[in-house]
Amino acid sequence: MKFNLGTQTHYKSNSQLARVLTEAWFAENGYCPACPSEELTQMPNNEKVVDFICPDCAAKYQLKAKGQHIGKSVANGAYQPKIDMIRAGTAPNWFFMEYDKKDWLVENVMLVPAHFVTPDIVQKRNPLKPTARRAGWVGSNVLIGKLPLDARIYIVRDSEEVPHSHVRKGWKRFEFLKTQKLSAKGWLNDILVCVRHLDKEFTLGEMYEFEDRLAVLHPHNKHIRPKIRQQLQVLRDNGILEFLKPGTYLLK
Ligand SMILES: [Zn+2]
Repeated sequence: MKFNLGTQTHYKSNSQLARVLTEAWFAENGYCPACPSEELTQMPNNEKVVDFICPDCAAKYQLKAKGQHIGKSVANGAYQPKIDMIRAGTAPNWFFMEYDKKDWLVENVMLVPAHFVTPDIVQKRNPLKPTARRAGWVGSNVLIGKLPLDARIYIVRDSEEVPHSHVRKGWKRFEFLKTQKLSAKGWLNDILVCVRHLDKEFTLGEMYEFEDRLAVLHPHNKHIRPKIRQQLQVLRDNGILEFLKPGTYLLK
């Protein structure tokens, strides 16, 4: 998928051009993964955290574009306001776009639904130096690599658009997370990361092998094994897992 370079020749810097092109691409190709709307409405430029909003269901989206590989971490705005929004349940969903700045090709666009996002995946950056224009300002990195694969839904992969129905299905599958508390979400994410390391059919014993690793992530919890069982239950109740027989699970 290529950017429409049409009349975009009068920009001073490449970063300004990139911003205009990526937003234009989204205005033209973007759609709402949360509902059947095939349109998104672009927000005015002064709206800092929301770039697009769905005219039907009001889902909010923030777009971050990078002229290089997205990788495991993306720099993403001021730290504290982001944490406050996540805690308040008002954080937007994210679209992360990766483009080739030589040929102006859209290579990958990844959706991260807000219902997966917890404060754990937002890393605080060092404050800007006293000599900086915005001295003392504290930015953040979004640690996408810490999220389970299910939280990273491709809408464009290797320059090919993924069918809308597929994207919407990926969204719907985990929409139940919206009703979970933040602490529960953190656990479910970590358990899902473990499940994704195993075969589709796996045993409780295999899950217990992640006990040490989970204990490091949740140092205040002294009952890791019961927690693992409880989270597997939550995943089953929400149709993500199937219990085949005692101690044996299937990722659907
Ligand atoms: Zn919508």
